[in-house]
Parts: sequence; structure tokens; C-alpha cells
Amino acid sequence: MNETNCIFCKIANGEILARLVAESEHAVAFHDIAPAQPVHVLIIPREHHANVSDLAFANPAALVDLMQLASKIAAENTNGAFRFTFNTGAEAGQTVFHAHGHILSKQPKGSID
Ligand code: 5GP
Ligand code: ZN
Repeated sequence: MNETNCIFCKIANGEILARLVAESEHAVAFHDIAPAQPVHVLIIPREHHANVSDLAFANPAALVDLMQLASKIAAENTNGAFRFTFNTGAEAGQTVFHAHGHILSKQPKGSID
């Protein structure tokens, strides 16, 4: 599934460049363009779904794959303390309507505090 004019579909298929962090069969992870914390990685399904709830029902295997990739990224890039957030709906702060999780941490791997 691929939607015209969806910025995250374009990142998933390489039409728009992003600073890639990791990839898997169903998911692509890249640095947020405007990081809110020292670690701020976005992780998206390759398939277009408007939000994580739609993804959960349409392609549960892709969601599990995405969660596993996010867990590896968090283990490799943080001290183990992180948030994994899916803003869902404009009123909850969602601005890009292709499902994406934010992996956020104040403690990059190796930081002291
Ligand atoms: P939302 O507010 O929808 O939960 O999150 C969207 C996120 O996507 C924001 O944190 C924003 O900085 C990020 N973002 C928007 N456009 C781009 C882009 O073209 N490249 C990257 N790497 N991040 C983007
Ligand atoms: Zn999309």
C-alpha cells in the first residue's frame, strides 16, 4: 500500500531522503528531522496505514516486526530508559497520517546520569 503525497511513504520508498537508523522486512526507522530529545527516532511500517490502530488490525505481523525493530534500536541507542509513543489523531498531536512510533530518550547509550 502506498499513498500519493504521503511524506513517510516517500521516505519508506527512498523518494525522500532521511537519516536511516535501521530497516526490517516491514519497518523503516530514521532520525526525526526536529529531535525533541537526545534520542529521537521515528519508526514506520513500509505499508501506508493512517495510524497505529489501523495498522494493528490490518497487518498485525507488521506491527510485531516494527515493535521488535524498535526494541533493538532502543537497546542499541539508549541506556534502557525510553518512551515509545504513537500520537493518534490530530487532537493528540499527530501531524503525519502514516503510522509512526517515536522512540524518545534523554539518555543516549553511554551517557552518565
Ligand atoms: P507526529 O506529530 O505526527 O506524531 O510526528 C511527526 C514527526 O515527524 C515530527 O516529530 C516531525 O519532526 C517529523 N517529521 C516531519 N517531516 C519529516 C521529514 O521529512 N523527515 C523526518 N526525518 N522527520 C519528519
Ligand atoms: Zn504513507
